[in-house]
Amino acid sequence: MQPQNESRAITSCTECQRRKQKCSREWPCNHCQSRKVPHLCQFSVKKLQQDSPPESSWDNSSNDARGQKRSAPDSAEPKFISQNGEEEELEDGLKVWGYMPGHVHYKVGNGEDNYQRKDSPSELKTSDVVEKALHAIPPRSITDAFVNHFLSVVNYRYSAIYGPTLADQYVQWWADRGIGKRLSPELTCLLLRICAYSVQYLTPSMRKMVEFELACNSQTLTERFAAAAEQLSQSFEASNTSIERVQEQFLKGVWLKSESKIVESWHALSRTIREAQELGIDKDTGMEGLSEFDLEIRRRIWTLLYIWDWQMSAWLGRPNLIDQKKLTIQFPNLRLDQSTTEPALISPFAHMALQAHLGRMVATIMGDAHSVSELSAEQILAIESECEKFIGELPAVFRVKDPDTSLDEAHPYIVFQRHQLHCVIFITMLDCLKPYLTRVRRDKITDQDDDFRKKGIDIALRLLEVARRFFNHEFPINAKFHMVVFTIFDTATLLCSAIIHDHDHVLPHREEVMDAIESSLDMLHQLSLTTKLGATSYNFLFKLVQATPELSRHSPISKRQRQQSSCIPTTSLPEFAPAPAEPSIITPIDPALQFPIATTENGTLPPMTATDDLSFDLDQFLAQNPFGDIGDPSTLDMGGMKQIWDWENLHLDAYSQPGSNA
Ligand SMILES: [Zn+2]
Ligand SMILES: [Zn+2]
Repeated sequence: MQPQNESRAITSCTECQRRKQKCSREWPCNHCQSRKVPHLCQFSVKKLQQDSPPESSWDNSSNDARGQKRSAPDSAEPKFISQNGEEEELEDGLKVWGYMPGHVHYKVGNGEDNYQRKDSPSELKTSDVVEKALHAIPPRSITDAFVNHFLSVVNYRYSAIYGPTLADQYVQWWADRGIGKRLSPELTCLLLRICAYSVQYLTPSMRKMVEFELACNSQTLTERFAAAAEQLSQSFEASNTSIERVQEQFLKGVWLKSESKIVESWHALSRTIREAQELGIDKDTGMEGLSEFDLEIRRRIWTLLYIWDWQMSAWLGRPNLIDQKKLTIQFPNLRLDQSTTEPALISPFAHMALQAHLGRMVATIMGDAHSVSELSAEQILAIESECEKFIGELPAVFRVKDPDTSLDEAHPYIVFQRHQLHCVIFITMLDCLKPYLTRVRRDKITDQDDDFRKKGIDIALRLLEVARRFFNHEFPINAKFHMVVFTIFDTATLLCSAIIHDHDHVLPHREEVMDAIESSLDMLHQLSLTTKLGATSYNFLFKLVQATPELSRHSPISKRQRQQSSCIPTTSLPEFAPAPAEPSIITPIDPALQFPIATTENGTLPPMTATDDLSFDLDQFLAQNPFGDIGDPSTLDMGGMKQIWDWENLHLDAYSQPGSNA
């Protein structure tokens, strides 16, 4: 399955050769794995450059650093052009025309692929920009804390960066900076993005420390990092890219999502994909010269982009940026993370690899259908049964029912990954049943409409259960993670649509559905205090419920409070600076209930900074936009939702039809 170099069968890895050890001759080999340096494990029979330390790849002043992670270039084989400089000139001649990596022209000289790019542009002008960007980087002890927090916590969301390499590079970066060496603009930019993302998710105690030390609130700080990164990033030329630049762009998209800027994030995704294609990450062909480590890292990045593209397109109704049917790379094999001490420990990329498999499975069944509304009954049944099969085959740590939690304590990121994966699976299952929940019953599509409606309700309820667990785990510190809000909002809105279209009152589990909407509203209310996306979502759903007599009658807010109070842990309810300046016209939820699970490791919680700069004042908004007169849905203020969610597919326009409510 994996590409096997002939050479590998006959030689030890370069590290084992150097250390005169018996190599298992399998990537990554036994010794490199146990020494936790799989990125140094390379197999090559040719002229080797393993003597240069890993950090030197950042040092553009020395020519010989270029071959560091590659086995093929600079080989002893006869070459068309022997001098490095001339070889680059040849490459430049092709690049200037925009020939993509792997194009036959790059093979004009010899059998080897020599199109490899420089690790970074060596332009002088970027050094000024780097110098400027350095002002945004705090003293080392604090930056260390951010990078550590990234590597030990937030990176595990997507595992977009391979930790051991970054740790090495980071240490070297400070060493270089100390002796006034030229710093890599790409790595500097990546570090700024890492800091920006890390600061979005600081623990309360870290935030306290940082805000004290830097005399600056964490929101300002994260924005400052992002702005510095952006400035640096804009000095890069499209024609000269690198893996660090793709990662940097990816983190930009991640950051934007957490800032509730979903549309901007999608545009960032688009640029990341282009950047990755420029580097040739999107295909495996012509990559013979790369080490297995590099291949694995590239495949991981492309896998992430593939997943994001699939999900944003399927869930938000946005056009695909990648051809989902033609996946031209192998998925990462994850051997990189095999643990020699804990064999049961799964790769931190496993949850993403699983999502990619799920996405590809759905794409295969969908065939030429452009959207789920074009699917036949057979296709829907096939997707549902494949998903159930997928659930049944999940690794023990990720099982939906009775997961193996024995590693959770030592590796807390597993919990997050489990919840994230579960949400993705159920959203995927629900997605193709949505058309059946958002239309009136007599408006038939297939013979199995009733079955699909029932199935849709079942899955939506299961999804909200999963979402509730996710919420409980992430709130309030990580509530900015968009998927928490999205899952709750999207599902609850769908259920509202189902109720609105259920003229005959035959919807299965109708009462349960109404309760689920209510409990979603509760969660969104809490989220509205920490994220703008939460606030907008709450506002939207609240108005929708108010405007739907069945729903507003079913559960007045006071009832919601009572239900809620029964499940509140009695431990420390932190002080909280409530957002509303004046009492609003909605019955406010008892402030004591605002943070039902807000206990932290040290039992205290500083006020959420996000609240201070919430540009959207929910209560003021509601006061200015009284509900109850939503005759025409186009007048319903979506607060930016319209762009984000594919809300038209919810067919909420039932409002304006005679005979319905309003
Ligand atoms: Zn070895
Ligand atoms: Zn090795």
